Amino acid sequence: MNPLFKTIIEPFRIKSVEPITFTTREERVTKLAAAGYNPFLLRAEDVIIDLLTDSGTGAMSKYQWAGMMRGDESYAGADSFYRFEAAVRDITGLKHIIPTHQGRAAERILFGSVLKAGDIVPNNTHFDTTRANIEAQGAIALDLPVAEGRQPALRAPFKGNIDLEALAKCLAENPGKVPLAMITITNNSGGGQPVALANIRGAREICRRHGVPLFLDCCRFAENAWFIKQREEGMADLTPIEIARAMFACADGATMSAKKDGMSNIGGFLALNDEAWTETAKNNLILTEGFPTYGGLAGYDLEALAVGFYEALNEDYLRYRIRSIEYLGEVLTKAGVPIVQPTGGHAVYIDAKAMLPHIPVHEFPAWSLACALYIEGGIRGVEIGSVMFGRQPDGSEKPAAMELVRLAFPRRVYTQSHVDYLGEVILHVNRQRETIRGLRFAHAPKVLRHFTARFEPVGA
Ligand SMILES: *Cc1c(COP(=O)(O)O)cnc(C)c1O
Repeated sequence: MNPLFKTIIEPFRIKSVEPITFTTREERVTKLAAAGYNPFLLRAEDVIIDLLTDSGTGAMSKYQWAGMMRGDESYAGADSFYRFEAAVRDITGLKHIIPTHQGRAAERILFGSVLKAGDIVPNNTHFDTTRANIEAQGAIALDLPVAEGRQPALRAPFKGNIDLEALAKCLAENPGKVPLAMITITNNSGGGQPVALANIRGAREICRRHGVPLFLDCCRFAENAWFIKQREEGMADLTPIEIARAMFACADGATMSAKKDGMSNIGGFLALNDEAWTETAKNNLILTEGFPTYGGLAGYDLEALAVGFYEALNEDYLRYRIRSIEYLGEVLTKAGVPIVQPTGGHAVYIDAKAMLPHIPVHEFPAWSLACALYIEGGIRGVEIGSVMFGRQPDGSEKPAAMELVRLAFPRRVYTQSHVDYLGEVILHVNRQRETIRGLRFAHAPKVLRHFTARFEPVGA
């Protein structure tokens, strides 16, 4: 980039377009009520800007589409697998690379292979599917974020860090009960906040001392590498791929949703060094995903991924991506909308507890705000709060640490004017925030309830 010009432009041209359908406010009121006030149950064509997730929603490059044409669909030993394996091994340095159809399949296979009831898995913050897959084995998913990670308004460079003291204490107090420890990069449920390389190295030392393997939930490894380059001392001159390799050098294994920094619409992997675990995992894989050289993916998916992992590490791309999120964060902050500071790697997180103090936590302020954003501007975000995390394994309710609305940016999909529109809508909702009402459950399923729950407005 020419240092004379400060506008960070989208580092791509658009070759194929997807029309957006516009709806009126009146239409959206009807559609949201019909969806039980659950944005997950809306039809995508009824959404104007869809920030529900950055998972599998990105636009692929012409190189990925070209790669798909050479997809080898052989059942076993396809060329595409070897290209996929080479890319993952080149970046992670891990020995055994097992493709899966998405991240949670890697989680289920890993935890199903190595956990037993009563085991404990510490993590900076478990993602919802990670937690659910650990609990499905009767094990305990323990969140150990650093204290600053729980304070939305506090600005700190690495709020995604794991609490090293708490990790050391957990391992010391539970010998034989922690088959593995995890670190999620970036910390999705904790505001998309990055984890410092020093923190990953610190965790590795502690795990080594106790003979516990360390796994990375590495869905956003490229974004995390970018933050390390920008914010960690001594890292500015390294390239994102060098930093990624340094992070993975601390790990004995990794689970990946390649729908994130794989820049593809589907895919994932489990990568690990341990021979015995690999054998069990491959046997589990064959039961539900497929043969170990395709793991539930088509050959062409493996090709798109082999290209995508490297595109995610491109500096012009990372600069544009992180900047567009930061830019929305600045618009909101200037207008006094409370958000998790600083903005994270893949999303802006609005602090609904601070924005809507008149809605008590048991009436789900973040869920209510997500509904208001849809009604006013056709924006779809997702609650990361007490609907997602409030239900405990014993069936009781406990409020989540934070009540956030996550606005996750699909990769290479929206442009500056879309982001300007987002800012306008959110500021409009903020001005009339006192009129937003809370919600209560009309139907609450037991597992991962946010996906299918139905609600009704309080006082209706
Ligand atoms: C998305 C995600 C997962 C699960 O991956 P899927 O591909 O959705 O199954 C796990 N961990 C984190 C941190 C994620 O963001």
